[in-house]
Amino acid sequence: MSQTFSKAVLAWYDKHGRKHLPWQQDISPYRVWLSEIMLQQTQVTTVIPYFERFIARFPDVRSLALAPVDDVLHLWTGLGYYARARNLHRCAQTVVSEYGGEFPDTVEALSELPGIGRSTAGAIVSIAFKKRAAILDGNVKRVLARHQAIAGWPGETATLRSLWEVAERFTPPRRANHYTQAMMDMGATLCTRSRPACERCPVQFDCVAYGQGNVLDYPGKKNRKPLPEKSVQLVMVRNPAGDILLEQRPDSGIWGGLWSFPEVASDLDASDWVQDKFGAVTTTELWDTWRHTFSHYHLDITPVLVQLKKSPVAISEKKALCWFNPLAPQALGLAAPVKKLLDKIAEADPRQAPAGGRKKAVRR
Ligand code: SF4
Repeated sequence: MSQTFSKAVLAWYDKHGRKHLPWQQDISPYRVWLSEIMLQQTQVTTVIPYFERFIARFPDVRSLALAPVDDVLHLWTGLGYYARARNLHRCAQTVVSEYGGEFPDTVEALSELPGIGRSTAGAIVSIAFKKRAAILDGNVKRVLARHQAIAGWPGETATLRSLWEVAERFTPPRRANHYTQAMMDMGATLCTRSRPACERCPVQFDCVAYGQGNVLDYPGKKNRKPLPEKSVQLVMVRNPAGDILLEQRPDSGIWGGLWSFPEVASDLDASDWVQDKFGAVTTTELWDTWRHTFSHYHLDITPVLVQLKKSPVAISEKKALCWFNPLAPQALGLAAPVKKLLDKIAEADPRQAPAGGRKKAVRR
């Protein structure tokens, strides 16, 4: 059965597979790796401009390894799941320091690198090195779970083990690069989550779920508990020059390593908090609360804009704080909601951009 499956998939790929994506040109381990990391949890159309900007700024693994992590996070802004960007940077540094700038060509060695799991390693080995290696990303899990009617949520160990067993068995010894690409394409374009196009599918003839008429029952769902709710105030401290105080978040936790506003518990008076820390306050504006949902909880965010009477000197020694000029484009990694708030502040900023260029962010 495995050969029949891969033959049908490859024949479909020859006719319908995607072959013109940016990372499918000038194929190299670096480009495949970068695209695979970006494509985790993110759609192709979203990834394309990010991929192109990254390649323009970091054309090879050495240039990425040498860049400050802030530059990497800045280019990643808006793509989400920022741990991927920090791991990307660490991985590039490891490839340079331990492998002389060349990616290893086995699933085992690649899986040891930061941010590379078994499926991503399989994609790099098959696409970039053209060697037989199986993949099992979210799309492929869906195709195989349906085709083989593998019940259970793929996050459970036993279900995952069954899916890997099929993924390994179905991967052909030749043309593994095309097979990998085809499986990703089929999952993304045919065997989609809610409206699979079974009538056009090359493996419909022996798809068990299709035969049973219960395609949408696979893959099994996780038993979901309602997400917990938390709330917080993001305090946008503005000095008399109009600059906004940002602090760098710790590497672990949400928006790890990115620059954000200081956070204050929702039951505290943000104005008092700022006064205690940075001195007298002239005005305080409470903005509308909105809900940001992370994978494991809802966060209700209330932004508070607090205007300082004088610029404090107290932050000058702290490396994780900086004054940010909202009128200037600055190479800092910002979480998407923080960027939106800074843009809103910039819209209302009465300052004009100085002639001949805008002021750069400086740590003071
Ligand atoms: S027949 Fe339908 S459910 Fe089965 S693999 Fe193809 S698209 Fe998916």
